Amino acid sequence: MNIKFKEIVINTKRRREIVNITEEIQKFVNESKINNGICLVYSTHATSAIIINENESGLLEDIIRKINEDYPIEKGWLHNRIDDNADAHLASTFIGPSVTIPIKDGKLCLGTWQDIFFLELDGPRIGRKIIIEVLGV
Ligand code: ZN
Repeated sequence: MNIKFKEIVINTKRRREIVNITEEIQKFVNESKINNGICLVYSTHATSAIIINENESGLLEDIIRKINEDYPIEKGWLHNRIDDNADAHLASTFIGPSVTIPIKDGKLCLGTWQDIFFLELDGPRIGRKIIIEVLGV
């Protein structure tokens, strides 16, 4: 069993933004030389999330729209007394900070219509950290 760990850092430009990180993840899986196992992708922030879905521009806008509908920015949340971003914390809580993807024969087992995305919920931010950990043989 081997474990390989990497941290990638990204900057975001908008309050809510979806960033495709699939290529960087697969690149690290290649570098890890681990052919069979699992890959954890984990965001270390309370106002972001990691998701897997189709890389289609309309759908990516729909995802942002759905988040905006479910977690409105102005709604008298108690946390807004501190730093005015309760909506982002709530969305992060219920969407989740990580995904785990099986690795087979050196490739992420993503379906044809699946990519991996970092979901910014309280941008723009500099230095968003994403951990990639690959475990396997
Ligand atoms: Zn906050």
